[in-house]
Amino acid sequence: MQVYLDNAASTCLDEEAMREMMPFLRETYANPSGACSFSAKARSAVEKARERVAGLIGAAGDEIVFTSGGTEADNMAILGVATESVSVPKMAVQQGIFGAGTVTQDFAEPSGSLGKSGRVHNKIITSKIEHPAVLESCKEAERRGYTILYAPCDKNGRIDISFIKRNTDKSTLLVSIMTANNELGTIQDIREIAGIAHEAGALFHTDAVQAAGHIPLNVRESGADLLSISSHKLHGPKGIGALYVRRGVKIAPVSFGGGQEKGLRSGTLNVPSIVGFGKACEIARESMEQTVSDMARMREYFIDGLKKSIEGVHINGADSLPSIVSVSFDGIEGSSLLIELDMRGICCSTGSACSASKEGPSHVLLTAGLSEERIRGAMRFSFSKYTTYEELDHTVKAVGECVERLRRIRNI
Ligand code: PLP
Repeated sequence: MQVYLDNAASTCLDEEAMREMMPFLRETYANPSGACSFSAKARSAVEKARERVAGLIGAAGDEIVFTSGGTEADNMAILGVATESVSVPKMAVQQGIFGAGTVTQDFAEPSGSLGKSGRVHNKIITSKIEHPAVLESCKEAERRGYTILYAPCDKNGRIDISFIKRNTDKSTLLVSIMTANNELGTIQDIREIAGIAHEAGALFHTDAVQAAGHIPLNVRESGADLLSISSHKLHGPKGIGALYVRRGVKIAPVSFGGGQEKGLRSGTLNVPSIVGFGKACEIARESMEQTVSDMARMREYFIDGLKKSIEGVHINGADSLPSIVSVSFDGIEGSSLLIELDMRGICCSTGSACSASKEGPSHVLLTAGLSEERIRGAMRFSFSKYTTYEELDHTVKAVGECVERLRRIRNI
C-alpha cells in the first residue's frame, strides 16, 4: 500500500481542476495579452480564475496578482513594500513635497523611507519561524539597509504577540507574520497582529500558504494588506500562486518586463495553471466546512492511534491546522524513521520539505525551544481530502513497528 502523508509539502492535483486546465494547453493556448479573439478567450479564463482565487480569501479579483507560487508572493510582498517605500521619498524630493533639509537629514538613515508625515520607515518585523521565502526576503531587505526584528515563539509555536506590540512603532514599515506554520501547523492570531501593525501605521503581510484552503480566511476580517497563497498546497497545479494586494496598497515591482499584472509581475501569464489554481480555490471554498471537520476528525484519530499503540509519543505544537501533525518519538531519529517508512511505501517528512536539502535542525523547532532529542525525532504527517482512514490505520501500524525496531537496534 502506498500512502502519501506529506500534503503540507505538496498535494495531488484535483481532477476537476485538471480537466478545466486541459483546453488551455492545446486549444486555447494564445497569449492572454494578445489582441485576437483567441487571446480574449484565454484572458477571460484568467479573469474568472482571479475571481475564484479572490473568493477563497474574501478579496476582490482586482486585488489578486498571479505569481509563480508562495515563494515569489512572499518576495514580492516584502521587497515590493521595501522598494516602494524607498521610491516614494525620492519622488517627493523631486516634486519638492518635502523641504530639502528635512529630507537630507532623514536620508542620513541607511535606508528606509519618509512617510507622509516625514518620518523614516526603516523597520520590518517578522518572526523566527517564518518560511525561508520570508526569512530570506527579510535578509535581502536587511542588506538594503532595513532593520529586521524577529519575534520568538513559545514551545507550541505561538508567536510572541507582546514582542510585536513592544517593537512596532512609527518607524515600522511592515509586519509580516505567517497565518499558520508549515512544520508545527500552529495557527497565529493574525487579526490581532494586523491591528497592532495598523495602529502604528505599518502594513501587514501574512504568508497564508499553509492555511489557505485548509481553514477559512477573510482578508477583510483579518485586516491583511498583503497575503501570499500557493496553488499546489490546495490541490491546484505547481508553479502558480498569488499575492493579494489590498486596494490602495502600493508596492513596487521586483521584476521587470512587459508590465503584466498591473506592472507588478511581468511575463506571459501561465494560463492553464492559473485556470487550475482558480478551480482548486473554488472547490476549496465550497467544501471548506466539510474539509475542516473531516481533517480535524482525521487528525484526532491519527494522534489517538499513535498514542494508543506506541509509548513515548509527543505531539509538537498546539492550535494546529487540522491537516498537520508534528510528532516526536522517544529515542527515535526522525531521519531513520523516515527511511523505514519510505521503504514501506509511506511518504511523510521530518520537518518541512523545503528545508529537507538544508543541513541542521529545524529553525522552527529550535525557536520553540524543544529539546534536542525531540527536535531530532520530529516527524510531520500531513493529510488531504484524499487521505483515508485505512491509510491512517496502515501508517499507525507501520510507525509502531518501525519505532519498535529502531528502539531495539538502539537497545532502548
Ligand atoms: N510559505 C510557506 C509557509 C510554505 O509552507 C511554503 C512551501 O512549503 C512556501 C511559503 C513556498 O511556497 P511555494 O512552494 O509555492 O513557493
